[in-house]
Amino acid sequence: MSDPRPVGAVDGPVVARTRAELRTARARLTGGDVAVVMTMGALHEGHATLIETARRKAAHVVVTIFLNPLQFGPREDLSRYPRTFDSDMEICRKAGVDVVFAPTPDVIYQDGDPGVRISAGPLGNVLEGQARPGHFDGMLTVVAKLFHLTGADSAYFGQKDAQQLLLIRRMVRDLDFPVDVVSVPTVRESDGLAMSSRNTYLTDSDREVALCLSRALEAGAAAAAEGPSAIRRAARSVLVREPLALVDYLVLVHPYTLEDVPEWYRGEALLAVAGRVGTTRLIDNLPVLVGPGGRALEVFSDVDTATPAVPATPSVTGRPDGD
Ligand code: AMP
Repeated sequence: MSDPRPVGAVDGPVVARTRAELRTARARLTGGDVAVVMTMGALHEGHATLIETARRKAAHVVVTIFLNPLQFGPREDLSRYPRTFDSDMEICRKAGVDVVFAPTPDVIYQDGDPGVRISAGPLGNVLEGQARPGHFDGMLTVVAKLFHLTGADSAYFGQKDAQQLLLIRRMVRDLDFPVDVVSVPTVRESDGLAMSSRNTYLTDSDREVALCLSRALEAGAAAAAEGPSAIRRAARSVLVREPLALVDYLVLVHPYTLEDVPEWYRGEALLAVAGRVGTTRLIDNLPVLVGPGGRALEVFSDVDTATPAVPATPSVTGRPDGD
């Protein structure tokens, strides 16, 4: 009889560095579904929450740790990105991860830079995509490869990276990947700062400045009952009081199209902000319910299911009566 225990549950996760090692470890994950949590390492409580959520719902959990060069621009922080493999492993061990797949770039990109890539399409050119050209194509390309290599049934991603999450949902839907995408609410420090591997770059004074991002989102959400312009105004009024935060964008957009929501809009919307503090680019967002009963939400309500009901191309530019 085969051993019914999860592969890594007793001795800690099995570490796979190569495709062959992953295949062997993956083949031992029998008798239940497999969830994957994809990371770039430098794990923190946000990642741990993703892993624990996956652990509760799936029989087996695979964590990938891969700093994907394809999604970093030439002037971005690939070389200084924190690398903390030993403490990452400790987090994975405590969370009961079965397999950690930690390949080097040559394992993932066997023939060098891939000539064929996933295109994120128009949703990949706005907001983060505008600031980071090619970022989402590189991200989706590695996510697609890791779906194939891990053979996961479900995948857990953070609401923290809202545009990434939306694009992964779109890719899964548009290209028929047999994977359930589950979103996990943003995990924050006690003062509201969204946890991020990049927070380690912040000096103490940067960190104080960075708080204006989450405070702006909270202020916006507090005005959610009054409609879009009140939300934007409330959020902006926090940001303008912090000149050391170089704000790239503050938007209130439709969660599926990422188009600005018009003043008449009522329903769920994404309040998102990005800016530079010191040398570090930070992003944060809050899903909000706009209109009567308006408030912050943890994740969007109708996308957190096995196959999200994402409308093909919903338009928020026309009036609801079809004008
Ligand atoms: P990263 O290692 O930054 O690429 O993130 C890996 C995964 O962790 C992504 O799905 C992120 O959205 C998620 N993640 C990062 N930070 C947080 C956070 N503060 N709360 C929840 N999920 C997060």
